Amino acid sequence: MKKITIAIDGFSSCGKSTMAKDLAREIGYIYIDSGAMYRAVTLYCLDNGLFRGKDVDTARLEQDMPGIRISFRLNPETGRPDTYLNDMNVESRIRTMEVSSHVSPVAAIPFVRQALVAQQQAMGREKGIVMDGRDIGTTVFPDAELKVFVTASPEIRAQRRYEELKAKGQEADYEDILANVKQRDDIDQHRAVSPLRRADDALLLDNSHLSIAEQKAWLLEQYKRVTEE
Ligand code: C5P
Repeated sequence: MKKITIAIDGFSSCGKSTMAKDLAREIGYIYIDSGAMYRAVTLYCLDNGLFRGKDVDTARLEQDMPGIRISFRLNPETGRPDTYLNDMNVESRIRTMEVSSHVSPVAAIPFVRQALVAQQQAMGREKGIVMDGRDIGTTVFPDAELKVFVTASPEIRAQRRYEELKAKGQEADYEDILANVKQRDDIDQHRAVSPLRRADDALLLDNSHLSIAEQKAWLLEQYKRVTEE
C-alpha cells in the first residue's frame, strides 16, 4: 500500500495526539508530536533562566538554538515515544502547567519555528508519518495526502486536560486550565508566523461529543479512503 503523510492540526487539548498516536501504531507509521518539540524548547528556556516573567531572552535563545537537540525514543513500557532534550528524558517535565503556560510565546518566535519546522520536514521525508500540531497541514506538510483539523469547545478541552493531569497525580485547577486553554488558543491563532488555522483541504472534526473509540474509527476510515483511492 502507498505510504502517505498525515497532518493532524487543531486547538490545544482536543485529543489530537491520542488519535494520531493510535492511528500511527495501528498502521505502522512514525508518530511525531510537534507540540512536544515546542514544549522542550520552552523547558530549556525555563531551566536556563531565559525567561523574564513571560518574556524570553530571544538573543540568548537564538545563540543557544543550534545546541538544543530534540529527539524521540520509543519507551518500551508505554509503547509510545518519549521526548528527549539533549539526551535527557523530559517527557513528563514538558507536560506540566508551568511549561503549558510559557510555551505559546516561545512558539511564536520566528527562528524557533524555522528551526523546528526544518527538523519536522526532515523527519517526514520518507512519508509514512503521522504528525500533530498547529501548522502541520499549512506549513510543515502542505502536500500531505490526509489533513485533519480537530476542534472541541474550550470547556470540554479544559475538562479533559484536568482529568489527564489528575490521573498523573499532578496538581490541577479546572479554572486555571480553562484560562490557559483560552489564552493559548488566542496566541496560537493570532501570531504572525504560521498562525493556527484550518488548511483549505483539511477535513474538520469536532470531537466535543465523540468517544476516543469513535474518533479512532473515523480517522482509520479516512486513512483507508485516501490510501485506497
Ligand atoms: O500540542 P501541544 O498543546 O502540546 O503544543 C504546545 C504548544 O506548542 C501549543 O500551545 C502551541 O503554542 C505550540 N505549537 C505550535 N505549533 C505546533 C505545535 C505546537 O505552535 N506545530
